[in-house]
Amino acid sequence: MGKIIAVANQKGGVGKTTTAINLAASLAALEFKTLLVDADPQANATSGLGFDPASISSNIYECMVGEANIEDIILKSPNLETLDLIPSHIDLVGAEVEMINIPNREERMREALAPLKEVYDFIIIDCSPSLGLITVNSLTAADSVVIPVQCEYFALEGLGKLLNTIKIITTRLNTELAIEGILLTMYDVRLRLSNQVVEEVKTHFQQMVFDTIIPRNVKLSESPGYGIPAILYDAESKGAMSYLNLAREIAEKNSVALAK
Ligand code: ADP
Ligand code: MG
Repeated sequence: MGKIIAVANQKGGVGKTTTAINLAASLAALEFKTLLVDADPQANATSGLGFDPASISSNIYECMVGEANIEDIILKSPNLETLDLIPSHIDLVGAEVEMINIPNREERMREALAPLKEVYDFIIIDCSPSLGLITVNSLTAADSVVIPVQCEYFALEGLGKLLNTIKIITTRLNTELAIEGILLTMYDVRLRLSNQVVEEVKTHFQQMVFDTIIPRNVKLSESPGYGIPAILYDAESKGAMSYLNLAREIAEKNSVALAK
């Protein structure tokens, strides 16, 4: 039975998509059968894996409202045998409004992804920078959530609101939802600020924080432009290696035997 992990934080630009792409690719490189679900209308995870969102007509929304069969919209990563993608496109924006009146509107993604839990070891959901209905669906579908926190000013801003939303979802919609971990991203060893944020977040959240810290690394920001994850763009880079370490940490935490 596969594990569904949502990568969420309603703050934009904190490294959600970078984490979703590179965590999924690293798990796939460790030979886990992995599915990346792009649940953001901006479709950055879709283009980051080399697909053109403009030429894509299906997304998770069509499956959530029963207009498409989930197996039919899965794309194969051209570069990694064990990595698949459910793409997104801009129409996902309208989905939130259209879904208001349908029954079980918060549970549609869970229902859509349910058959795929048998197929994949890990399903990683890249959430949008909002706490709207699609994100609520993502958190309701997920077994756990990874929360990227940027090593910057106001790092903890909005985190209370996110944790509160997670709490509400755990009481009302998904009692099984766990926090997989808080992930410090864009860490710069030379900056006192970065070190202060690490200290602050670790003091507040202690063992909830992943041991792995993601450094600021240019390969991580360049690789989506080439439509490939960092591990294929420059496997030796600090960025690629840190996401591989995160994948190992998550696999170990979940006692999933490492294939490699
Ligand atoms: P989000 O999905 O939360 O909006 P992104 O993953 O898109 O955030 O990251 C925001 C920007 O920062 C992107 O341009 C991305 O390439 C860049 N970025 C993210 N993580 C890193 C990193 N560790 N090092 C360098 N650049 C990064
Ligand atoms: Mg994003």
